[in-house]
Amino acid sequence: MEVIRLRGIGVSPGIAMGEISLSERVVFTSRREAIEDDQVEEELKRLHRAIERTRNELKELKDHIQERMGEQQAFIFDAHLMILDDPVLISNLEKMIKEEKVRAEWAISKVNNHFTGIFESISDEFFQQRKTDISDVLARVYRNLERKREKREDPDKPVILVARELLPSEAALYLSQKKVLGVALDMGGKTSHTAILARSLGIPAVVGLHDISLKVKNGDFLIVDGTDGEVIVNPPSAIKREFQSKREKYEAYQKELKKIAKLKSETLDGVPFTPLANIELPEEVSAAFSYGAEGIGLFRSEFIYLQRPTLPSEEDHLAIYQKMARSTFPKPVYIRTIDIGGEKSLPQLNIEKEPNPALGLRAIRFSLKNKELFKIQLRAILKASVKKNVRLLVPMITELEEVIELKRIFEETKEELRASRVPFDESLPIGVMIEVPGAAVLIESIIQEVDFVSIGTNDLIQYYLAVDRGNEAVSYLFKPHHPAVLRLLDLVIKTVNRYKKEVTVCGEMAADPLSTIILLGMGLRNFSMNPIFIPRVKKALRAIEVKTAEEAVAQALKLKTATEVEEYIIESILKKHPQAFLMSQIVT
Ligand code: PEP
Ligand code: MG
Repeated sequence: MEVIRLRGIGVSPGIAMGEISLSERVVFTSRREAIEDDQVEEELKRLHRAIERTRNELKELKDHIQERMGEQQAFIFDAHLMILDDPVLISNLEKMIKEEKVRAEWAISKVNNHFTGIFESISDEFFQQRKTDISDVLARVYRNLERKREKREDPDKPVILVARELLPSEAALYLSQKKVLGVALDMGGKTSHTAILARSLGIPAVVGLHDISLKVKNGDFLIVDGTDGEVIVNPPSAIKREFQSKREKYEAYQKELKKIAKLKSETLDGVPFTPLANIELPEEVSAAFSYGAEGIGLFRSEFIYLQRPTLPSEEDHLAIYQKMARSTFPKPVYIRTIDIGGEKSLPQLNIEKEPNPALGLRAIRFSLKNKELFKIQLRAILKASVKKNVRLLVPMITELEEVIELKRIFEETKEELRASRVPFDESLPIGVMIEVPGAAVLIESIIQEVDFVSIGTNDLIQYYLAVDRGNEAVSYLFKPHHPAVLRLLDLVIKTVNRYKKEVTVCGEMAADPLSTIILLGMGLRNFSMNPIFIPRVKKALRAIEVKTAEEAVAQALKLKTATEVEEYIIESILKKHPQAFLMSQIVT
């Protein structure tokens, strides 16, 4: 058998080995089959029977997923049911059968091409997702024309799932089955639905493999290395053994992580710090706690909007926030109001595409322009706060007036709730994200208006160094340890501490051991990150004394380049606490 090694993007770490199960795809017909006049009526009935079967199937799937993975993941089927009920879609199909006198298969295939064509011309990720959703629904109807029930992937033995791409409904369905050991896909990126799900379920996954689905067949053996983004088809036993031992190391390492998760969060000299989790889905809360999170430091609420075809209602928001507040209690959950606009446009609102989205009507700017929408979210956050563990976090503040205005709207919302005798936490803490350099410089004024701040270093560095955070071509300039960035962070952290208020870093910097040692030395005690990185940060911070970090940082702040800073910090910390960097070498 031929051994094939392929490189892709590792989106969920770990190593899986097993037999391949190729996900069966519906291939729309390319044959135009004509029918007679007197067959039209029967063909329409055939179409409607298939639609009805699809509707029942989707409802069944929705219940199935809701039971196993919770409401959030089941949204996708509401979206699909809505597409199925769309009168434009149905009448397009009927019209083609009636006017062109063709079989329903051909009509579905043409309509699919039509909608795919429309969405393809729009580069927005959300619209790309909608295109996938429409194809997903049409493929179901197509399959149901033949009365074939969907073949539920429920193999007897555990398998590695290989597919061109997983439609959102398939991802939710397949990955919720315990028998999927790993996933390898031709398409996809780090933020695709499949990637997020695989990560939260701990299933190793590699995506972006281009054509693996064409290179393998059912029954082939596959190694999926989600840590390094590699897959190997039909490996010889020597390679299998190599990866078995890599897997054992990874599993031992995972065990070590879980042990660290239970240890106290305090430095070598007994100073407490708080590791928190950044999450996108409420289902991620329990995994976050298993890694040692002591609260949810950042809940990116825009995912509520991005997962559904219509605007979420107050009840939709509330159900999610209540679930989060309940599952996190008594620990805190910081709910960030939507960071949307610009590239993450809301098609539900038909917003114009902006020429420079990162500098456009994003986040709080968008919320203040769409006050009613903002108040829906604020009301839901307030209503979910009765147990007093909810915090309100507002992204992308640029100037003081915005803080004053948002506080005014927040007070107005509270007043309305009081008038209708709806209970909420009267002292719900309100904080803002420091992501715009201008706001960082103004920290002394801003902190006096709020209860806490959270520093979003991903955006702060992007704006301060003028480096697009998503552009590979300039990523070499995205330097968290650039002396200018460090001096700005030092200013914010020290000023907030002087006012005895809470400051957290919730950008990617908070997940990097070297950065967290620097931040600790500046006086930071709250670190919010992707939960899988909590153990390594905890290990690093538990291994050092605050005094060592403070002294090293004081010197580093005088240096001229990021490289000088890194060399200096590593050298001075290693001299005193060699344990601090041990973990960071193992994890990527
Ligand atoms: C940040 O900018 O650092 C941040 C945490 O927010 P996001 O990554 O969601 O923009
Ligand atoms: Mg940000």
